Amino acid sequence: MNDPFTPEQVRYLEGLTAGIKLARQQAGTGAPPSSSSSAGALQVAQLAASARGETLTSEELLKRERHPLDRFDELAGRAHRGEMPKGGDVFMTKYFGLFNTLPAQDGFMCRMRLPGGFISASQLTGVADVAEQLAGGYAHVTTRANLQLRQIAAEQTVKLLEALDQLHISTQGSGADNVRNITASPLSGIDRLELIDVRPLCKAMDFRIRSTRDLYALPRKFNIAFDGGGAISCVSETNDLAFLAERSDEGTVRFRVLLGGITGHGDLASDTQITIPPDQVIDLAVSVLNVFIRHGHRGDRKQARLKYVIERMGLSAVIDAIEEDFNRPIQRGTCSPATVRRTNRTAHIGVHPQQQAGLNYAGVCLSGGQMTAQQMRGLAELAHRFGSGSLALTVWQNIIVRDLPDAALPAFQAGLTALGLATTASSFAAGMVACTGNQGCRFANADTKAHAASLTSFLEKNVADPGMLNIHLTGCPNSCAQHRIGDIGLLGTRVIVGDDDIEGYHLFLGGGYGSFARIGESFVEDIPASALNSTIQALIETVMAHARRDETFAAVVARLDVRHLMDIKSTLIRRLSAPGRNTNVSAPTVFAEPSSAEIYS
Ligand code: SF4
Repeated sequence: MNDPFTPEQVRYLEGLTAGIKLARQQAGTGAPPSSSSSAGALQVAQLAASARGETLTSEELLKRERHPLDRFDELAGRAHRGEMPKGGDVFMTKYFGLFNTLPAQDGFMCRMRLPGGFISASQLTGVADVAEQLAGGYAHVTTRANLQLRQIAAEQTVKLLEALDQLHISTQGSGADNVRNITASPLSGIDRLELIDVRPLCKAMDFRIRSTRDLYALPRKFNIAFDGGGAISCVSETNDLAFLAERSDEGTVRFRVLLGGITGHGDLASDTQITIPPDQVIDLAVSVLNVFIRHGHRGDRKQARLKYVIERMGLSAVIDAIEEDFNRPIQRGTCSPATVRRTNRTAHIGVHPQQQAGLNYAGVCLSGGQMTAQQMRGLAELAHRFGSGSLALTVWQNIIVRDLPDAALPAFQAGLTALGLATTASSFAAGMVACTGNQGCRFANADTKAHAASLTSFLEKNVADPGMLNIHLTGCPNSCAQHRIGDIGLLGTRVIVGDDDIEGYHLFLGGGYGSFARIGESFVEDIPASALNSTIQALIETVMAHARRDETFAAVVARLDVRHLMDIKSTLIRRLSAPGRNTNVSAPTVFAEPSSAEIYS
C-alpha cells in the first residue's frame, strides 16, 4: 500500500509524535493530549487534513512555522522600522487586526472587536482621538457592526493597538482565520419585542475566544450571531453559526441553532432543528468551532468554511461530531416550527420607544457607514449628556444611541443636526449598504462607497420612495456587503465597453433576510457604473408599477411570475443597449446561476 503521507508530512508527524511524548512525560499521566490541548489543536487538525489527502495551503504552513499570536515581536519590529509587511507577513499581521491596504490606500486598516457592536461613549471618544492622532481621522462602521480605522502609518501601529487596548478594545483575531466580530440584536436590553438580552452572551463568547488559544486554529474565518428576537435583524442566517431566541412550548427561552451560512457562496444557514437553553450556548459554540477546526478544509481556502464541512460530512454527522465534543446529549428534531421573526426593517433608523417607560433609542443614519472623529466625539458627548452613555453599531452600518428620556429628545436632535447627522433618512439612504470598495480595498472592482452615495442622492431626487428598500453594493465576490440578501444586490465587476475596461456591477434580485430570508439571484450582468443610477431607477419604477396597495419592492418581486420578471429584465437590457449607451454589454439570463467568479478565496 502506498504511504498516505508525503515526506514532509512524515517529518511533521515525527515532530508531532515527539511533542506528544514530551507532553505525556511532562504531565506524568501517560495520557495523550486531546485536540484541545494548548499546543495540539492546529497540529492535529493539519495532520487530519493531510490524512484526508489535502495538501496544506501556504497559510497553513505559515501558521505551523510559528503561531500567529506569537508573532507580535515581528509586527513591532516592522513598526519600529516603519515597514509594511510583505508576503506571508501580510496574512499574519491580520491576526492582530491590522490589514496592509496597499496599493488601494496607504498604510494599514485596523479592525476592532466590538462584541455585538456595543460601544460606550467613553470608548467612542477614545476611538475618535485614536482616529485623529494615529489614523485617517474617521471610522467606518462595517456590516459586522464593527469599526475600522484607516490610513495608519506603519510606525504608528503598535501605538494604535496600545491606545485601543487602553479603551478595552481588542483587535486580536478580527482578521485572518479567526472568529470575527460577534454580531447581535443591537437593541438588546431595551427592545420591546425581544425575548432575551443577548449582551452577556456576546461578551462571554468573545472572552472565551480571546482566552482560548486553540480557538485560533481555524482553517478560515467564522461568523457567529446572537439574535435575541428583537425588532432589528442582525441577519443571523448569514452566519456560520447563529443562535435565534425562541419561546419554547414550556414558556422558557431557548436558542435555535443554525449552521453553515455564507451568502457569498449562495447559502443561508441551515436550521439544525436543535434548540438549547441559554446557559449552554457558549459551550455549544465552542464545540461547533472545535468540529470546524478538526474537519475544515486546509488544502483549499475556497472550501474552508463550515458550509463545506456540512456538504462533505452531512448535517447529521456534523451534529454527531458536535455532540461528541459537547459531551452531553443534544435533543434533535423536536423543535416546534421556527418562531416568525417580528423584525421591523425601518427600526434601525429614527427615534423609537424602549421597553423602559419614558426612554427611547435613536437610530442615526451614517452616509456610507462613515463617521468623522468630530462626529464620533459629538455622538459620544450626546449619548453621555442625554442618555446612559451606551451606543450600538448595527450591521446596517448606522449607530444607535440608547436610553434617551422623552424630554431630552429635542436637545438631542439639535445636537445631532449640529454634527451634520440625523435620525431621519429616505428609504434609499436607510437601506443602502456598501463595503469599502476600491477607495481602501485592493480586491474591489468598483468604488462602492462613492457609487452608493451617488445612487442614494440620485434616487432621492428622481424616484418616488417605495418604502423600505435594501440596496447592497459589494466590491468583489468576498461579499462583505452581502449583496445576495439585498432587495437589490450589486456585485462589483469590470465591464468592457469598447476598448475600455471600466467599473461596473452585476445586479442580483430577490434576496432577503429574517422572516423573508432568501438568496438573491443574478438578474442583469455587466452594468457600467456610469449607467448604474438610471438602471436602478428603471428597475425600481418597473417593479413598483406592479405593486398593489402598500406592497413593498421585495414583496412585489417575490410575487411576480417569470414572464413579468423577463419583461422587467428586457426593459433594463433595452436601456443598457440603447444607441449611445454601451452596446456591447452582455445580455444576461434572468436568475442565472452565479458565475464562477463568485467563488472566492
Ligand atoms: Fe474588499 Fe471585496 Fe470586502 Fe468589498 S467585498 S471590502 S472589495 S474584500
